[in-house]
Amino acid sequence: MRTETVNFDYSRRESKSYPSPGRCIYCGRSDLPLEDEHIVPFALAGDTIIFEKASCRPCAEIINREFESYCLSTTLGAFRARAGTPTRNKKDRTKERPVRMAPLNDDGEAIDVYSWTMPPNQIPLVLLSWLLPAAGMFAGRTASEEILGEGWARVSEEETAAYINAFKAITGHAGNVGLSVAKLEPERYFRFLAKTAHAFAIAEFGFDAFEHLLPDVILGQSKCYCHYVGGEPHIPEPNDSEVSCRLEVGVFAGESDTLVGVRIQLFPMYGSPIHHVVVGKRALTEEDIAARDRQNAISA
Ligand SMILES: [Zn+2]
Repeated sequence: MRTETVNFDYSRRESKSYPSPGRCIYCGRSDLPLEDEHIVPFALAGDTIIFEKASCRPCAEIINREFESYCLSTTLGAFRARAGTPTRNKKDRTKERPVRMAPLNDDGEAIDVYSWTMPPNQIPLVLLSWLLPAAGMFAGRTASEEILGEGWARVSEEETAAYINAFKAITGHAGNVGLSVAKLEPERYFRFLAKTAHAFAIAEFGFDAFEHLLPDVILGQSKCYCHYVGGEPHIPEPNDSEVSCRLEVGVFAGESDTLVGVRIQLFPMYGSPIHHVVVGKRALTEEDIAARDRQNAISA
């Protein structure tokens, strides 16, 4: 098994760039002008990981419009502003963002909803993600459109408590209160993970090194997200790393073929879920078989 970890820290000055594959890594076309691709978006990792001339404009537009800008602004926008990740638009730092609070009844249902906007430095720190079981291909499930797993949030208890107490004091509501400062749509989040993993694996291994499994998911032609996008069931401890994204590529030899996978963890310092994405498949090599047998001997 080959694994390699690459960490992307937006504060690093040096960047890693991969040479152009000569065609779009999503649709395969080589007859359109190609643009540089940020494997991890600029808004998370600056210019630290670039795949040169690797996507065509139509594919870049689908990615941006259908999921990437939603994930970066609606899901991670308030968090990014607080964490100080890069932005091309300085106004983004102070742009007011939506906050919603709701007094809840004894059954946990909202009695009313209050919405307003606030600058990010006054919004409680909340990081959203999605906790997933192993990808269907890894677990031997048949392909399905079912959405698996559940939402996950890392919240600053102290900041949220201050907010909720102020809300209770103003409204006189004595029961529980719901607070929402960001939204995650699993389908868009899965496509975002798929796109990152796909670009990284092709950059590392080469365009022709394996059969690509993810372009249909990335470009919106397939909804079998959880067949390819999965994760580790446990939540890791927060660590003291400064990186915004940790990517690891590996190959996993099975009985009849070898799967190419990418492990992704965003903001490991907050102990967020670890995602595993099956990116591709290729024929078993002698080397894969030998590595698999060594692995089996160790675990036996
Ligand atoms: Zn394309």
